Amino acid sequence: MSEPRIAVVGAGISGICVGVALQRAGFRNFTVFEKALDYGGTWRDNTYPGLTCDVPSRYYQFTFAMNPEWSQLYSAGPEIKNYLVGVAREHGLPAHTRFGVEVTGAEFEDSAWRVTTSDGAVERFDFVLCATGFLHHPKRPDIAGLDDFGGTIMHSSRWDHGVELTGKRVGVIGTGSTGTQLVSELAGKVPKVVMFQRTPQWILPTVNKRYREVTKQVYQRLPVLGSAAYHLNRGFFAAFSQGLVHQGRMRSFIQWVVARNLRSVKDPDLRRKLTPDYQAMCKRLVVSDRFYAMVQRPDVELVTSGIDHVRDTGVVTADGELHELDILVLATGFDSHAYMRPMAITGTGGHTLDQAWADGPRAYEGIMMPDFPNLFMLVGPHSPFANHPLTAVAEAQSARIVGWLQRWRAGEFETVAPTHAATDRYNAMMRAAAPSTVWTTGCRSWYLGKDGMPELWPWSPGQYEKRIRRQPDPVDYRLNRHATSGK
Ligand code: NAP
Repeated sequence: MSEPRIAVVGAGISGICVGVALQRAGFRNFTVFEKALDYGGTWRDNTYPGLTCDVPSRYYQFTFAMNPEWSQLYSAGPEIKNYLVGVAREHGLPAHTRFGVEVTGAEFEDSAWRVTTSDGAVERFDFVLCATGFLHHPKRPDIAGLDDFGGTIMHSSRWDHGVELTGKRVGVIGTGSTGTQLVSELAGKVPKVVMFQRTPQWILPTVNKRYREVTKQVYQRLPVLGSAAYHLNRGFFAAFSQGLVHQGRMRSFIQWVVARNLRSVKDPDLRRKLTPDYQAMCKRLVVSDRFYAMVQRPDVELVTSGIDHVRDTGVVTADGELHELDILVLATGFDSHAYMRPMAITGTGGHTLDQAWADGPRAYEGIMMPDFPNLFMLVGPHSPFANHPLTAVAEAQSARIVGWLQRWRAGEFETVAPTHAATDRYNAMMRAAAPSTVWTTGCRSWYLGKDGMPELWPWSPGQYEKRIRRQPDPVDYRLNRHATSGK
């Protein structure tokens, strides 16, 4: 039985998850390449004040590494990052990880991938698993004069902790999950916060409760409780997801909840400015226990006039007003359609990834692509990721990928890729289902591709998991046996 050589690209949630899955399945010949110097992916990169996960921690964790010691219902960024680092270490990933090495290219040649890295090395692997995530290329807005700003300017995912906030006037551009968390945290801690809003957001109210020591001890002694809490949350999220993918009672209920929450804004003018003109959940729903309370403070200003340009002393809006600032934060999101790019990937017949994705990222079951044999993606295009924990998605996808690797080890094939026909059918099926999702009801969001179609799985996450946990249908794949391999 020969051992496949496996390259894993990225050591964030999905890279850690698949790395552990490889360990547990007895694969030993794998290398995790990570361009940064630590585990954690988005939870390593994002360290801005107020960063909190909006999925409960008892659900936002791996089922093979349940943590009884979460400090609160919704944990803060550093706690999640520490959890991920701990999981990687406990499962022996450091022995397989090369930090500070970026995979720059992968070329399929002679039934294997020729992988090039930033340190100049070239190595051959039987499989490449892209676990690069999709929220890692910060989006710098196209605003005139950004470089003229005389104060400190930073993207939310590149927070400079050396910058002193005390006594500073802070501007935040963006009203997504990041912008609302930042404003909620900074309000009251700095003399002035100015939030520049292009589009208002619906806000789902919540309460973030801290767990007492005794709760942690109980969860430690009775692991079944952790499991029960996980599945309880899973049920709740499954019900919630119905509102995303079907017009019906759940969608109406969530709309009612967010509209009611908005009523907590007392000033009618401010409330009007904060009222979206699209359906709740069309953009990724923002979850917050305090945003509306904070935005009503006298030291917080919500600016709705569009940004005209930035100058040395601050931001000038379309109404001609200059908003003087010391710090400007770009909470403007990410290029979510890049996935593993800028890696240069060339599959069979010289087909490049850029060519394959000329009309937008497409894959078969979010995991594989025709013309790119033995290349797998985790959390690839059309995976179910709207307000859904990536830990769960990555676990299901890792199981599917490990299943293929086991079949390779058993000598069933040398290379595998989905057929064009299966991939086209799969994508056509998703396009047909897209109109019943909330994401196509009329809003601008990073979920949408350039054709206006959502790059998300248009049914419930449970249906996706069920699909990829079953045996792959052989007619959907091209399997090749190497003539001389004896496999
Ligand atoms: P985002 O949702 O993409 O929001 C970007 C914001 O920047 C939007 O309000 C956008 O306005 C605004 N913007 C972009 N360019 C602009 C411009 N030129 N002028 C004015 N405004 C501009 O980004 P994000 O808030 O960083 O969140 C990205 C994703 O990260 C989330 O959707 C979520 O998946 C994840 N996240 C999760 C958590 C969590 O708690 N789990 C926390 C933070 C982030 P428009 O709406 O008008 O486009």
